[in-house]
Parts: sequence; C-alpha cells; structure tokens
Amino acid sequence: MTETVVIAELSKGKISSTTNELVTAASKLGSNCTIVVPCTESSVANEASNIAGASKVIAAKSDVFANYDASAWAEAIDAVAPSGIIITAASAQSKDLAARLAARRSISVIQDVIEIEGTTLSTPIYSGKAIQNVSVSGNTAISVRANVFAPADNTGNCEVQVIDTTGNVATALKEMVQRASQRLDVSEANIIISGGRGMGTPANFSHLEEIADKLGAAVGASRAAVDTWDEIPHSMQVGQTGKTVNPNLYIAVGISGAIQHLAGMRSSKYIVAINKDADAPIFQHADYGIVATWEDALPVLSSSLSGLLG
Ligand SMILES: Cc1cc2nc3c(=O)[nH]c(=O)nc-3n(C[C@H](O)[C@H](O)[C@H](O)COP(=O)(O)OP(=O)(O)OC[C@H]3O[C@@H](n4cnc5c(N)ncnc54)[C@H](O)[C@@H]3O)c2cc1C
Repeated sequence: MTETVVIAELSKGKISSTTNELVTAASKLGSNCTIVVPCTESSVANEASNIAGASKVIAAKSDVFANYDASAWAEAIDAVAPSGIIITAASAQSKDLAARLAARRSISVIQDVIEIEGTTLSTPIYSGKAIQNVSVSGNTAISVRANVFAPADNTGNCEVQVIDTTGNVATALKEMVQRASQRLDVSEANIIISGGRGMGTPANFSHLEEIADKLGAAVGASRAAVDTWDEIPHSMQVGQTGKTVNPNLYIAVGISGAIQHLAGMRSSKYIVAINKDADAPIFQHADYGIVATWEDALPVLSSSLSGLLG
C-alpha cells in the first residue's frame, strides 16, 4: 500500500479547499493518506479530519508555523510526517517547501503537477509550451497545481493526532510585515481580472477592483504593471516570475499576452481579453476577445454585471 502525506494549505487561519484537492490527487497515487496540518493552534486541524479519503490527520503544532520560513518549516514537518509520497500545493511557498522536504529525505521532487495517470505525472515545462510526463517509483515529493483536481468532499471522519513541538525551535521567523490587503489572493481565486501596462496608471486598477467586487474575483497584474508602479505589489503578478493561476475565468485587460504572462495563466478554463490592439498576442489564446480600450469596455461590463447580479 502506497502511503501519501498531504501537507495542508491554510488560508486566513483555516484549512483551505486546496487541501481537499490535494487529497484527491493523493487518492490517485496511494490508498493511505495522512494530512499534516502545520499550525500554532491544533484545533484548526479538526476541519481536515472531515476530508473524505484521509485516514489520519496530524496536527503539527509548533511556534515556527506562525510565519513561513522554509528551513524551519521543512525541519518541523519532516520530524512529524510519516514516510510516503509528499503532496503539497503548487503555490510559491509550498513549492519551496516541497523542494526542502525532498532534500531532507533525499527523494526527488516534481513541481506543478497537472495530471496523474497511474505512476505517470504530467507537468508543464518551457513556460507551459510543452508538457513533460514523469514516471515515479518509490517516495517522492510533488506539488499539485490548484483547481486541477476536484476537491474531495467533507463527509469523512478520521482520527486527529496532535504532535506538539512548541519550544523545540532552533530558528524561527518572528514577524512578517506584509502590505495590508483585504483582497482575495490570485492563487486562491476562481475568477481573476488582471491589468497590464495598458491600464495607464495604477489608480486605474480601481476599475478592475470594482468589477472584481461584483464577481467575487481577485485582481492580478502583468509584470510590466508590477515593475512600473510601486502601488501594484508583486503578490498580484501572474506569470513565469509571478504566480501560476488556474481559475475558471481569467479576464486580461490591457495585457499584451507575452509568453511569460501566458506561462502563468494559459491553463485557465476561459480567457477573456480586452485590448485596443486587434493584433495583440493575447487574442490568440482568448476564448472571448474584445477589441476596445478598457475605458470603453469596462463601464459596459460593469453596468451589465450590475443588471445581471443586481
Ligand atoms: C525572464 C522574464 C520573466 C518574466 N516574467 C513575467 C511574468 O511573470 N508575468 C508577466 O506578466 N510578464 C513577465 N515578463 C515580462 C513580459 O515579457 C512582458 O514584458 C509583460 O508581460 C508585458 O506586460 P503588459 O502586457 O502589461 O505590457 P505591454 O507589453 O506594454 O502591453 C500593454 C498592452 O496594453 C494594450 N493597451 C494599451 N492601452 C490600452 C487601453 N487603453 N485599453 C486596452 N488595451 C490597452 C496594448 O495594446 C498592449 O497590448 C517576464 C519577462 C522576462 C524576460
């Protein structure tokens, strides 16, 4: 029986639904799944015990999990996680963690998995221009792209074991100061509206936020927007050197569609592009294209949504 170890994803102090997707991925690789929940309060792990397909939850309680620090997290998780195939999400942080855990256990690492067929895992390479199939045997660490596998439902009920290593800390990151943002992160969103340099000024991103609020979407950005304007943080960047996203709907506004941007969003289910240049490369990848300035298109979109959604 192949053992799998899912490292739970948390968002705002709760188990995020990405964890359910990881359990589905785990079920394709093995039949005995342990979820490890990195936490400072073990009660959060109780939510994970409901995920169908999990045979056990380990609440790994430690001070180090207050803030992300790759080496401290890998050390603390390695100490409590059973051996098996390690499965993490494919966020920047969790890919980092997967690599660290693989190094600690001297196993191979496969990042950004989008398909699992038996023991063959598929991952995009060359900025998504090609897919490589990797055959695995034995234990390995893999990160799994969000929104690819259907989330396991919450009808399970398994045992929760608390392993408290509080105080057993060599190094820990004491504080992480982040820019205050109440907005949904692009890597968690089902709908994303992103702006590029074509937005003209960072203040114009408020037009994207207005539509995002109506749709319950996150606001993303191209690298040109992030590099040009201090007001647009790197956390919003989608692409090869930003975040890889896989929403149901991706709306690109004033974004040319450079290959490095496509690398982060081309697997979105539906892509809508708004660009004033009919020859912009983004249109070759869009399911729906609107050749117009955003100044013309966004007010129409906004009022149509108000009509539809009330
Ligand atoms: C190693 C490397 C890594 C990179 N990583 C990333 C990455 O992670 N993410 C990323 O995005 N890029 C990345 N880039 C940069 C990438 O090559 C492009 O430069 C960048 O994506 C361009 O951003 P943009 O489309 O917003 O800007 P531009 O290329 O300047 O395009 C602006 C678009 O807006 C349109 N436009 C202008 N005005 C309007 C208007 N009023 N209404 C509607 N449309 C309008 C224009 O027609 C144009 O198509 C990377 C580059 C390198 C070399």
